[in-house]
Amino acid sequence: MSIDFSGRVAIVTGAGNGLGRSHALALAARGAKVVVNDLGGARDGSGASSDAAKAVVAEIEAAGGEALAHGANVTNMEQVQDMVAQTMARWGRVDILINNAGILRDKSFAKMDLDDFRLVMDVHVMGAVNCTKAVWEIMREQQYGRIVMTTSSSGLYGNFGQTNYGAAKMAQVGFMNTLVLEGDKYNIRVNALAPTAATRMTEDLMPAEVLDMLKPESVTAGALVLCTEQAPTKMILCAGAGGFASARLFETDGIFLAPEQQTPEAVLENWDAINNTAEQSELASGMKQSEKFLVKAFNYLQSK
Ligand code: NAD
Repeated sequence: MSIDFSGRVAIVTGAGNGLGRSHALALAARGAKVVVNDLGGARDGSGASSDAAKAVVAEIEAAGGEALAHGANVTNMEQVQDMVAQTMARWGRVDILINNAGILRDKSFAKMDLDDFRLVMDVHVMGAVNCTKAVWEIMREQQYGRIVMTTSSSGLYGNFGQTNYGAAKMAQVGFMNTLVLEGDKYNIRVNALAPTAATRMTEDLMPAEVLDMLKPESVTAGALVLCTEQAPTKMILCAGAGGFASARLFETDGIFLAPEQQTPEAVLENWDAINNTAEQSELASGMKQSEKFLVKAFNYLQSK
């Protein structure tokens, strides 16, 4: 089955370099009209230039595609709204949003400056929130939308020196989980990508021969599936170096303690049963956890 985005309009943030550039080129090569957003700053978010986005637009146009460069800083809602207004004026719809823009300000938590924590949260979290907010009503009205968050193994599992980045990246998953529920009846599907690729963001973190395996294009192959009409929703797709996997959150069935047994000692005594992964499930919403516990409590009351 070949994947075609003809007639679709996509916004890719942070598309002047690395993964975003690769996503934008691939979407355009398969027929999408693409807004190439990039602030054009350095890896740590300092500085700005529209050259990076313009260069990607030139590449797309040279290959016969259609694209628009926009230098919005995703942390600035007015600039984001201007980007979406220009997209609507030119193409009249927004089908796909890939929230990809990001920066790094790594330091161990002991040495972390809180301004660096705030900035990383602002770019990744509020950047994704601003862009999603600016297209949400358009997608609801269209009854069509595909949104991709960019999370990271650093958020899902932790990485030394990345408390700010890890917190920001896991926030993408939390943001996605509720958007999935609220977007469902409007045919808006929201997924997250957890990439591993050799870009300027990772160039000093890995040896050269490993970096050769980590082409952004292999991540893009997965990202594009999340942008299709057949896209799943609420998926965390991990991709890198040709590997593709799905990260999922499971909860054990757990135990029930009657009111007179609800002591820390009893919780500790039941530690193995609480952690018993033989009985576990994925919960469709936070309410399902309350339901699970209330069913156990109800059964207890019935049995009395
Ligand atoms: P990159 O530095 O090559 O590209 C990021 C782009 O985002 C840059 O072009 C930058 O100018 C742009 N950007 C930064 N702040 C912006 C802002 N406020 N507004 C608009 N644009 C802004 O990095 P990359 O490796 O391609 O990373 C892309 C995304 O993937 C990021 O969200 C990153 O956290 C995530 N990620 C990357 C890896 C990896 O292995 N490369 C791993 C996990 C997650």
